[in-house]
Amino acid sequence: MKVGKTFRQRGQQYECVDRFEYERPATWIWIYRLRSTCPDCNRPFTCTASKSQWKKNQISRRCERCRAPGRPVDVSKGASPKRSGKPKISPLAAKLLEVLRSAIGTEDAVIPLATWKAHCIACGLIGPAKNSARASFSKYKRKLVAAGLISCTRTTVKLI
Ligand SMILES: [Zn+2]
Repeated sequence: MKVGKTFRQRGQQYECVDRFEYERPATWIWIYRLRSTCPDCNRPFTCTASKSQWKKNQISRRCERCRAPGRPVDVSKGASPKRSGKPKISPLAAKLLEVLRSAIGTEDAVIPLATWKAHCIACGLIGPAKNSARASFSKYKRKLVAAGLISCTRTTVKLI
C-alpha cells in the first residue's frame, strides 16, 4: 500500500499516512503448495501461496514458463471450466460486480447490501430515485446470484 492511499473497509474510511518496516522475529506462516492448470499452455503446474496471497487473489495463474504478471488470463480459452460454465451477465451487472469487488476490498468477505448499493448509486450505475434504484439494483443483484458470482442474505452480500 502506498502512502496517501485512501480506502474503505467495513464502512470506515482509512488513509495510509506512513509506512515503515517492522521485523517480526520467528514468525511462522503456512505456505500452501497448490496444483493448477496453466491457462496459456494447459499444462499442470504447482505454485506456492500464503493464506494472505490466497485471500488477496495473488496466486499464480500461469506456470513458470508462461509467467506474465499483469497480463489478464483469457478465460474464453476454457482453461477455467468452473467459470466457463457460468451464464453470461449483462455489462451493467458486470459493473455492479466490479463496484462490489472494490467495496469489499482485500480483507473483508462480507459487506452490508446497503454499502454496495450506496457505492453503485455514487458511481451513477443506478439511479438515485428511490423506487427505480431499488428495482434495478435488486434485478441485477438477482442476476449475479443466479450467475453464481455472489451470495446474499437479507442484509449482506459476499463474493463467491
Ligand atoms: Zn504455461
